[in-house]
Amino acid sequence: MAARSKCSYPRTGGSVCLSPYCAISLAGVATLTSGPTGFASLDPPQAWPRPRTAPRPERWAGGLEGLPGVGPALRRKLAKLGLATVGDLLSHRPFRYEEPVPEVPIRDLFGEDEVTIVGTVRSATSRRTARRLTVQTVRVLDGSGEIGAVFFNQPWVAEKLRAGTHVRLRGALSRRGGFAVKSFDVGEAEATADFAPVYPASEEVTPKKLRELVAQALPLAPAAGDPLPAALRADERLPLRGDALVAVHRPRSLAEAEEGRRRLAFDELLLLQIAIARRAHERETSVAPSLGEPGELIRRYREALPFTLTPEQEGAIRQIDADLARAVPMQRLLQGDVGSGKTVVALYALLRAVEHGRQGALMAPTETLAEQHFLTIDGLCRELGVPCALLTSSVPARERRQGRDADLFVGTHALIQEDVEFRDLAVAVVDEQHRFGVEQRQALAEGRAPHVLHMTATPIPRTLALTVYGDLSVSEIARPPANRKPIVTRWIPEERASEAYRRLRRLLDEGRQAYVVCPLIEESETSRARAAEQEAERLARAELRSYRIGCLHGRLRPADRRELMARFKAHELDVLVATTVIEVGVDVPNATVMIVQEADRFGLAQLHQLRGRVGRGGEQSYCLLVSRRKEELTEGAQERLQALVDTTDGFALAEKDLELRGEGQLLGTRQHGLSDLRFTKLRADRDLLERARAAAPGLVGVRGPLEDEFFAADLST
Ligand code: ADP
Ligand code: MG
Repeated sequence: MAARSKCSYPRTGGSVCLSPYCAISLAGVATLTSGPTGFASLDPPQAWPRPRTAPRPERWAGGLEGLPGVGPALRRKLAKLGLATVGDLLSHRPFRYEEPVPEVPIRDLFGEDEVTIVGTVRSATSRRTARRLTVQTVRVLDGSGEIGAVFFNQPWVAEKLRAGTHVRLRGALSRRGGFAVKSFDVGEAEATADFAPVYPASEEVTPKKLRELVAQALPLAPAAGDPLPAALRADERLPLRGDALVAVHRPRSLAEAEEGRRRLAFDELLLLQIAIARRAHERETSVAPSLGEPGELIRRYREALPFTLTPEQEGAIRQIDADLARAVPMQRLLQGDVGSGKTVVALYALLRAVEHGRQGALMAPTETLAEQHFLTIDGLCRELGVPCALLTSSVPARERRQGRDADLFVGTHALIQEDVEFRDLAVAVVDEQHRFGVEQRQALAEGRAPHVLHMTATPIPRTLALTVYGDLSVSEIARPPANRKPIVTRWIPEERASEAYRRLRRLLDEGRQAYVVCPLIEESETSRARAAEQEAERLARAELRSYRIGCLHGRLRPADRRELMARFKAHELDVLVATTVIEVGVDVPNATVMIVQEADRFGLAQLHQLRGRVGRGGEQSYCLLVSRRKEELTEGAQERLQALVDTTDGFALAEKDLELRGEGQLLGTRQHGLSDLRFTKLRADRDLLERARAAAPGLVGVRGPLEDEFFAADLST
């Protein structure tokens, strides 16, 4: 895809990219060498020493449909896991390995330790329990004895393990009698092998299936070539990349797996550090207006706020003031959990520009979010006499033109589209920037170098922030305003959902408001909208009879959506039935209870964001997560929901998310070409990060196979 080789994120002054991801995006690496400004002041590109193995990137980049047994259906399921190419699959890091366990004769089974047994199937039976579970029991015998091996909810087992089949079973004696099976193999030991990799999987693609596919793809590993200069690899004492991949997927010991992982992590970190070094170099050469000290308008702003700022907010503001006083463009990340009060800080920064007769702009990833911000900001701006305009693609062109003279702009990317010409943009706030799709990134008017404040509610552990944002400064609002009570979170099985609605009604009767979040269906925005509408109608007839219900989804006309939100805010509606469009930015402090339907389908970070819509005022708030029964959920889904019940601390949840999903996904950057830290474990890899940092400057002006590889990968998508 040609677009990939060009960073299309707002650029200023023709040189500085506003995106912190540019620093980390692999596409960014490409831009920085091929862009118009290039690296004139750097040494001309040297030849990167060719590695010993000749890379065959086309095989690494080849689609998974090239593997035996992968048809269109499986390909789609794999795609949902972010796996499209052989390279994706081989970069899918096991999140753990099976322990080595002894092989034990059946007669000697004892205690509840995990072991393997090997034997022959005598018979297989299947039955259903009262709770809709199916249980398969397979009688297995070896030379020493016989035992009933028990499988839960795997109806195909009876079919596969016919009498006479030779099996290897991994599991443990269960207290109820019998051998509870964790995994099994027919023939060669794979799933049951010591150090068998366990991959992040989905309900549709099991870890077992992934193991099979990886086994098929692994012979292609050397095709990746080895992009590291041989001398560097030797200095760093790292294994060849192909060997590292084999070690990660087929380790003979945990140490071997770890050595392989670290080699691959080094590649990732090195690439990031090269990009960061390049970007820092570019930024040094651009200029922004110095905004001096805060003055009269800021004093009035502080007075107009209905509360005093918290020490955390004051701290962030001091750091922003220091940045704005300089002629170097600010590049600061304002990080704070949902509800921590980032918006008032953002408005502060914007008003600092207005105070100097310049302009400020706040860019949001969605119209809903832009409109939400506008509702908050416009109110305050009116009080201060600061003209403020909403610019989204749904605002009629005529109105947009009229708004052109405003001092403050709030909008989506439409804001930065061709018809808007900033008179003098001095401060830009970019909210939830990781939610911008690559394709949405439009060029900001050229010839400016505004100060940029990035806001994110996705808590990013400090190590990660340093790694991926590199030269970006970070301000953190670590604590919410003091009057907040922690949200009470409950995980409720579907059959008891009526209790959740009972609680919700009780709160409505006390004068509170509520959200009901509809299940995350994978299909289109349109079908999600339809499902939400149907659910709203159903609730209006059943659980929520006699309450005033609105339905918010991505297919509403913008004017209707604005009106709906305004009515909810004014308490003309009791309940908002919504899709995930309410995930960010919606701010109604009187809404104190949320029911999330089929909560197991959502990711951890997403659930945390959703939950952040309640608990925004002084009242006790509740988040009720409804899901299928625990036994029916994947291991990962159970852990996610339990983690949400256990803590409201966004940072603790981020760490948990890291553990469950791997680093790259935390950023929500599923898009190809953005940071994919698949092998890096940031906390464990601090030393690698330092080494990559040290090696990067020497490679800044060099083009080489590391990049070629990514160009190749780009072409394949
Ligand atoms: P964020 O954008 O970080 O999720 P917001 O800026 O939307 O959070 O703030 C959440 C809520 O807290 C808003 O209703 C806001 O008015 C309120 N708020 C912000 N700062 C304070 C403060 N210092 N004291 C009390 N309430 C505050
Ligand atoms: Mg907000």
